[in-house]
Amino acid sequence: MSNTVNNPKTREWQELSRAHHLAPFTDYKQLHENGPRIITKAEGVHLWDSEGNKILDGMAGLWCVAIGYGREELVEAASKQMRELPFYNTFFMTAHPPVLELAKAISDVAPEGMNHVFFTGSGSEGNDTMLRMVRHYWDLKGKPSKKVIIGRINGYHGSTVAGTSLGGMAGMHKQGDLPIPGIVHIPQPYWFGEGGDMTPDEFGIWAADQLEKKILEVGEDKVAAFIAEPIQGAGGVIIPPDTYWPRIREILAKYDILFVADEVICGFGRTGEWFGSDYYGNKPDLMTIAKGLTSGYVPMGGLIVSDKVFQVINEGGDFNHGFTYSGHPVAAAVGMENLRILKEEKIIERVKNETAPYLQARLRELADHPLVGEVRGVGMLGAIELVKNKATRERYPSDKAAGMTCRGYCFSNGLIMRAVGDTMIIAPPLVITKQEIDELVEKARMCLDLAYRDLQG
Ligand SMILES: *Cc1c(COP(=O)(O)O)cnc(C)c1O
Repeated sequence: MSNTVNNPKTREWQELSRAHHLAPFTDYKQLHENGPRIITKAEGVHLWDSEGNKILDGMAGLWCVAIGYGREELVEAASKQMRELPFYNTFFMTAHPPVLELAKAISDVAPEGMNHVFFTGSGSEGNDTMLRMVRHYWDLKGKPSKKVIIGRINGYHGSTVAGTSLGGMAGMHKQGDLPIPGIVHIPQPYWFGEGGDMTPDEFGIWAADQLEKKILEVGEDKVAAFIAEPIQGAGGVIIPPDTYWPRIREILAKYDILFVADEVICGFGRTGEWFGSDYYGNKPDLMTIAKGLTSGYVPMGGLIVSDKVFQVINEGGDFNHGFTYSGHPVAAAVGMENLRILKEEKIIERVKNETAPYLQARLRELADHPLVGEVRGVGMLGAIELVKNKATRERYPSDKAAGMTCRGYCFSNGLIMRAVGDTMIIAPPLVITKQEIDELVEKARMCLDLAYRDLQG
């Protein structure tokens, strides 16, 4: 990141950061030295920083700004709701119209048989809710020994204690003595990184079979649920081989355990279907949601619960769980308006039929670049693997920081593309146009060229 600052306000804000702000997922010393880039406004798929630079947001904020920035309708929905009823809780036998209407609207687009929604303030809280509900469910079913939840190495399910534990990020587990007991992990279906000499299809079967192996190792009578993202997002946009989900479905059908899809990234159109589970034909019992639900304009998450699970919970007396902001009326009103726009403007259809095929075709043109070992993607998700040797998939030594080098060039050339190790990832707003996709891919190629030049030197 460049340290040249021309606007005196930028300096001031960076000083405030140094003096007072503890940012998430940040190396504080590094932040202190460099100061943050200050983002001041946004419109459509573009951001502006305090230095006046215009930046194409290839990450939709943080996977969330589905309908793009600057939609007045969401502003209107929020201000109208704030005037009418800015807050009331949904505890203790009360409700308000926005939360009820949103629960119905979500059920309408959710897979068949998923008609109940528990609202939270975030995706992490959605997964905490899931953990408590799933264990409560098995207690009510008279199987209190079923408590273990199986997640995946390098999965991401949020940053609370339960979210971090369910996820499989080693760097996160190290801080806070996690995972908590009762959560175990299986390998991820990451062929490019871990497939060795297997074909992608062989590796997909191998990775799926790890679930069965783990169920047998722990004991079916102890396993409550399996949680997975349809496509791992934060782990590096990991698209499972075609054989993976069908094999997982076969295994899940054999054992009496619940299946939780973490749809926080894949939900609300990112794959070109309403949910990643629709894209793969999976039939989860519970789905965690957040991010695209409100396009990130206000925080909101939740857990969509199937009729099957609901029927048991419904007979269980009090569910002693909830958040002050569960079903917050302003967030619900914004969520309703966001869903209306997604539907009425046929944004998901356009992603599926026009813009995602275009993005995927254009991204794959980058596969010929000498630095690129693989390009993959689904819908409005993409990953570019940086390698030293295309044939062997050998990486650059980590001190070369290939991914960070490329990300730095993206930042300074007006493109936000994230680096997960040496995997460059994108997830632009769903409303990105073909012309803006051209801008994204051209900038990405230029930054790959610049990074390649450095890595050669
Ligand atoms: C972002 C994310 C979460 C956590 O959501 P927060 O709103 O940040 O708590 C959970 N699961 C997945 C798959 C995510 O990408």
